Amino acid sequence: MGPLEVYEKLLSCYGKQNWWPVTEQGAIAPTYKARKRLSENQKFEIALGAILAQNTAWKNAEKAIINLNKAGVLDCGKIANAKQAGLAQLIRPSGYYNQKAKKLILFAKYLQKQYGCKISKMFEKEIPELRKELLDLHGVGEETADSIILYSAGKPIFVVDAYTRRLGGRIFYRPMNSYVDTQEFFQKNLPKDLALFQEFHALIVAHSKRFCGKKPCCEECFLNNTCQFFLSGKNEKD
Ligand code: SF4
Repeated sequence: MGPLEVYEKLLSCYGKQNWWPVTEQGAIAPTYKARKRLSENQKFEIALGAILAQNTAWKNAEKAIINLNKAGVLDCGKIANAKQAGLAQLIRPSGYYNQKAKKLILFAKYLQKQYGCKISKMFEKEIPELRKELLDLHGVGEETADSIILYSAGKPIFVVDAYTRRLGGRIFYRPMNSYVDTQEFFQKNLPKDLALFQEFHALIVAHSKRFCGKKPCCEECFLNNTCQFFLSGKNEKD
């Protein structure tokens, strides 16, 4: 079974996940729904969310976004001019809040200086150039850059996270230690389709939380008849 078959099975079981959740104008909490277009502010919110979600569960990043919305500061110009200590308090639920406040301010300042706070201007670049530009920014690593490209810029690149490596490593029974190798494996074996890449990443998270955690529940998992890890009997030795 290849990545496309795994995707189809996950989609038929869990349905569309509609990632990335964003806040509608006038609301305070991000919501999951299919959106044909994102506003400039929603694109900026996704980029901030990708930084806030580093090393923490999404629900904690979401609490930080709600606090930013309540305070009325989820805006490129306001973040760029914010005091680090005050911003850190607002995003405290996301953890590493001092470091993340600095990252958010530097990110917003960069957008302000280079693009007049119009994040879409930055997204006019092709993926390789855009990825390099994001990776050159303070506190933006590969997963964060690719999440911004996939969900905020709406360009097809496969996001790799710890869930992807663990689930992929088990199902396809191949090492997935390197970010780039893992990304190449999925991209080579899937059609280059934005919606598919967006959904697949979210479905991997859903399945990892439901069945394929640190201690996998292989006996109950609906992928066990084709999962190389289970078929090898390795799950019984762990
Ligand atoms: S069978 Fe086990 S290892 Fe394979 S995907 Fe399911 S939970 Fe994960």
